[in-house]
Amino acid sequence: MAETIFSKIIDRQIPADILFEDDRCLAFRDINPQAPTHFLVIPKKRIVSLAVAEAEDGALLGHLLGVAARVAAEQGLGSGYRVVTNIGPDGGQSVDHLHLHVLGGRSLAWPPG
Ligand code: 5GP
Repeated sequence: MAETIFSKIIDRQIPADILFEDDRCLAFRDINPQAPTHFLVIPKKRIVSLAVAEAEDGALLGHLLGVAARVAAEQGLGSGYRVVTNIGPDGGQSVDHLHLHVLGGRSLAWPPG
């Protein structure tokens, strides 16, 4: 998998507003927020998208969801939030490194565009 802007954030080659980090993942604020709180949770392992994650990645995927919930709570999103992962061109994915969007701080419409 090719290096992306997210690899550079993991490697600290470019800065980000990091909210959480451990040996498996990183959570940081989105540079172009779509809600009052908008952060991303990414695995340090390079996986292009959920579509190509493998069975052996199951525990890692669960960990990403757990971190999303933990950081959302820390960010005060007690009244609710949304977790989204975009996949491929029709899914609106622009960075080819799996990431969860966590959006909150306002009432979110459904369905999304
Ligand atoms: P996607 O469109 O792939 O689902 O989401 C990629 C997200 O990454 C976008 O919401 C975009 O704003 C965010 N993003 C792209 N480049 C950077 C960057 O350099 N820093 C941060 N913090 N977010 C970025």
